[in-house]
Amino acid sequence: MKELTELQQKDLQYIFHPCSQMKDYENLPPMVIKKAKGIYLEDELGNRYMDCVSSWWVNLFGHCNDRINKVIWEQINNLEHVLFVNFSHEPAIELVERLHKVVPKGIDKFLFADNGSSSIEMALKLSFQYHQQTGAKEKKKFISLANAYHGETIGALGVGDVDIFTSTYRPLIKEGIKAKGPDCFYCPFKKNFDCCEAECFSDMENIIENNHKEIAAVIIEPMVQGAAGMKIYSPKYIKKLREITKKYNIHLIADEIAMGFGRTGKMFAMEHARVSPDIMCMAKGLSAGYYPMSIIGITNEIYDAFYCDYLEGKSFLHSHTYSGNPIGCRIAVEVLKIFEEEKILDVVAKKGEYLRKKATELFANHPNVGEYRQIGLIGALEFVKDKDTKELFDSKERAGYEIYKIALKKGALLRPLGNIIYFMPPYIITEEEIDRMLTICKESIDEYLANKL
Ligand SMILES: *Cc1c(COP(=O)(O)O)cnc(C)c1O
Repeated sequence: MKELTELQQKDLQYIFHPCSQMKDYENLPPMVIKKAKGIYLEDELGNRYMDCVSSWWVNLFGHCNDRINKVIWEQINNLEHVLFVNFSHEPAIELVERLHKVVPKGIDKFLFADNGSSSIEMALKLSFQYHQQTGAKEKKKFISLANAYHGETIGALGVGDVDIFTSTYRPLIKEGIKAKGPDCFYCPFKKNFDCCEAECFSDMENIIENNHKEIAAVIIEPMVQGAAGMKIYSPKYIKKLREITKKYNIHLIADEIAMGFGRTGKMFAMEHARVSPDIMCMAKGLSAGYYPMSIIGITNEIYDAFYCDYLEGKSFLHSHTYSGNPIGCRIAVEVLKIFEEEKILDVVAKKGEYLRKKATELFANHPNVGEYRQIGLIGALEFVKDKDTKELFDSKERAGYEIYKIALKKGALLRPLGNIIYFMPPYIITEEEIDRMLTICKESIDEYLANKL
């Protein structure tokens, strides 16, 4: 056990941290962050860490952003919370008015929740209830993709397929149908991005052709399967999926929780395929890492299926206590203003180009990088034992985790996904900081490999 500060001791005495084996904290005690500014976190001992993963993909414009801090002060002096049934407020109204202008065409009504997983639960319930109320009563099943991640509540796990999160709870879960999805690094059709016609859509197509009478919705993470390891796939897959779901009265649910708000270079990832979903879940970047909040966008067609006299019993009786919280809404309004006024999509394009150039220089020929892939301002390294055979390091070696620990000592927070090391920095990162992030990553990988020998 390392020597601990008083705060670390108290933390470990009481707190069970998320997504952790607490025994690991014997070797890597919690870093108690005292303050943060821009892309830097600073702990109680004065160590600084570059936040290269936007604190779990939420922080778009830096920590303690001046613009957002200011509006929070203003908002809490006016209204901090009010129940959202029968009551409303200006921040929520301004937010949906602005959001409506930037979401894909056809998304016209908005529901509020307080985190990503709850928005997924709501999307599934809305789709199911819609079909119950419009005569397609057999439509009770959901299809999702292999390797999908949609959150970790029981309903969301049913459409998820990342084994470490799901396997223990299988007996509790209402398992959806899993379609073999795109997996481009291991493409069974031996295609690459230039010649791909989304041949891998065939499994989804078969499942839908054979079961469409029972299918309520298909849910996807458009363009990038995040938690699966930043797996980027072709928009052609989404186009094909949109066509067939339309044909068979199946909802297409876009989980934009991670990829929405500019991350892939478009405001929403669905735009790459130039099609609209029926239901769209937004969270994470929506409130820029300041406040837990999510929004579900739906079509008027879905909305209308719930609109009738109360006694008909078709209301959507789902609520979260903090739904539509005014502080969260006011923050999200500011996020959208920043996007517009500071031309953030152009910023992402420019910095993304720089990241691609530099990362390719450093990693394209690295013997242990099977692939460097990128879209917008997400870059990911597929860390392998053997580049030619794509053989992976034994998962027991926890290579990603070891590299993460080395990088922390060098001042970068590069939390990996298994053996995928990725960059998902706040959009305010500078070119010099991109250089430094990549250098630390390269040095950490090389140090890990050298220590193994
Ligand atoms: C993070 C995430 C979720 C879950 O959101 P929470 O706010 O953590 O509950 C769902 N889907 C995707 C794609 C995510 O990245």
